[in-house]
Amino acid sequence: MSDDNKNPYENACNQLRICSAQMDMDPGIHEILIHPKMVHTVSLPINMDNGEIKVFTGYRVQHNDARGPYKGGIRYHHEVSMDEVKALAMWMTWKCAVIDIPYGGAKGGIVCDTKEMSVREKEHLTRRYTTMISQFIGPYRDVPAPDMYTDAQTMAWIMDTYSVLKGYSVPEVVTGKPIGLGGSEGRTEATGRGTAICLREAAKALGMNLKDAPVVIQGFGNVGVHAALTLYSMGCKIIGVSDSQGGIYNPDGFDPSKVMAHKIETGTVMGFPGTKNLSNNELLELECDFLVPSALGNQITDQNAGNIKAKVIVEGANGPTTTEADVILNKNGVFLVPDILANSGGVMVSYLEWVQNINRQHWSLTEVNQQLEQKLIDSFRNVWDTRERMGLNMRDAALGVGVKRVADSIQLLGLFP
Ligand code: NAD
Repeated sequence: MSDDNKNPYENACNQLRICSAQMDMDPGIHEILIHPKMVHTVSLPINMDNGEIKVFTGYRVQHNDARGPYKGGIRYHHEVSMDEVKALAMWMTWKCAVIDIPYGGAKGGIVCDTKEMSVREKEHLTRRYTTMISQFIGPYRDVPAPDMYTDAQTMAWIMDTYSVLKGYSVPEVVTGKPIGLGGSEGRTEATGRGTAICLREAAKALGMNLKDAPVVIQGFGNVGVHAALTLYSMGCKIIGVSDSQGGIYNPDGFDPSKVMAHKIETGTVMGFPGTKNLSNNELLELECDFLVPSALGNQITDQNAGNIKAKVIVEGANGPTTTEADVILNKNGVFLVPDILANSGGVMVSYLEWVQNINRQHWSLTEVNQQLEQKLIDSFRNVWDTRERMGLNMRDAALGVGVKRVADSIQLLGLFP
């Protein structure tokens, strides 16, 4: 059966099933892990600019908190669904465990199209959502962060709404805030930067050269832009990038900072001078050394996995590859650095932001970047060694590391009552 419209939660559960079988996991612990601990659905009535009331649907899923408070971003997108949020929450649990930071996993989302909304409408929606989930979040309970179509401004509104409800300022309730409100240096660029560091480590481990190495990046938002800028500064040749409208390609490469300026001016990367426009599907199948999917989930499926020509895939996005596509890529010898490792730089610096907030400190960019770099080098190395030792691919090795840490914590905690 085609997995073109694959349910992301099924994808996440399939990954866990494969991992549990490989680990010979206690079936009871597997059963705990496959179910999110709490799911919340809220309805959000908003006065729109045209005077009408519109009711939006929001979700917050808290998958597991055996290792610490729940942590996970909030996504605003018209295709957000409960199953997508459940999958993303599960992946957050593994991600925090793979890089060994003391958090569990959660995720949130609102079904909306921000491109059709004014700033005032987005602010009201964010404040209403925060109010509705306010009793489930908190600095020691669940700490949200940005994801697709949410940003530092969104986090500022969440911080303000939560603080008003509490009666005092609580910067540590969210991460990814503006620097002036206790945000961390380096948080905005952390995910893309981390993805680039993982790509560099993969190249090193595989004996590949980064100088002029052709790179294709799908998605030119927070993750895609910062991955492109960092990889360009490392000497890679960025030959293709895309956004929701389509992609651009030039085999001789281009400067991603100029594409960024073009996108700010025109609203899309398409039409950047000296490049050829192409579709997102064509972009994924370009000849290149490194492919960095940094947009939505379910982009590499059993429909196109066989056509992927990249030697290495580094998953900046969450869940861009389905389980069926993984099988095809493995068979074709494509080396893949999985999302729970490749995009963990964001939650790593979110963690550093939370630690700074709790301790009322503010660290320099150099200090933050040093900690990010060291954490990702160590985590990559640990997953690589697990892969070698157990004869696994990188996804199964990363899941093995993360899931085992969570399972061990559950065993140590025991069951209440
Ligand atoms: P963003 O909203 O900043 O950017 C999303 C980009 O994807 C935009 O350029 C948009 O045009 C593009 N896009 C949307 N639909 C597309 C499509 N069908 N084809 C190609 N491009 C499309 O979002 P972001 O924060 O960069 O997140 C991107 C991915 O990275 C998501 O999967 C997210 O879960 C993951 N991620 C983000 C963070 C973070 O810190 N922001 C951390 C970890 C993982």
